[in-house]
Amino acid sequence: MAERIVSLIDADTIAARVRELGKQIAEDYKGRNLVLVCVLKGSFVFTADLARAIESSTMRIEFLGVRSYGEGTSTSGVVQITQDLSRPIEGEDILIVEDIIDTGLTIAHLLDLFRTRKPASIKVCALLHKPARTRIEVPIDYLGFTIEDRFVIGYGLDWGEKYRNLESISVVESQ
Ligand code: 5GP
Repeated sequence: MAERIVSLIDADTIAARVRELGKQIAEDYKGRNLVLVCVLKGSFVFTADLARAIESSTMRIEFLGVRSYGEGTSTSGVVQITQDLSRPIEGEDILIVEDIIDTGLTIAHLLDLFRTRKPASIKVCALLHKPARTRIEVPIDYLGFTIEDRFVIGYGLDWGEKYRNLESISVVESQ
């Protein structure tokens, strides 16, 4: 069966929302020690755009490599850290940047992990949220878009490691 890539949220719409989020984050974190934590790999495009939308001369950016074990397109919530942060985060204001919150298991695990490192504060910024799939409720402090229960690709999100470079958030449809 042939497959067709269909845009769900186009590049202009994403860019406008990312600018709004960046403005809000800059206001909320004025005068504080903001550290953006980019959760690899899916968040790399979102983090790159979001970071440039946040006006701050003190913000740091960190990268966290994560592998979640699951079946097919679903996660089990068992998360392995494949690359840790480069520095301690004690006393700093952490904003975890996630591509998508699906069941919530991954972000719940990361919140537990980071809390043990005693940051001054810890919040979550997610580009996408699929509320229909929630298995554990997690606070999402900044959210780009709520979407229905469909597997999305593009803007950093992959399908078998491909399609991360698509400009728009898209879905695959069978024809
Ligand atoms: P959760 O632990 O919230 O179920 O899943 C989080 C991770 O699963 C995301 O960071 C992402 O890597 C992956 N994921 C969940 N839904 C999708 C989706 O629709 N598309 C893609 N490409 N990855 C997804």
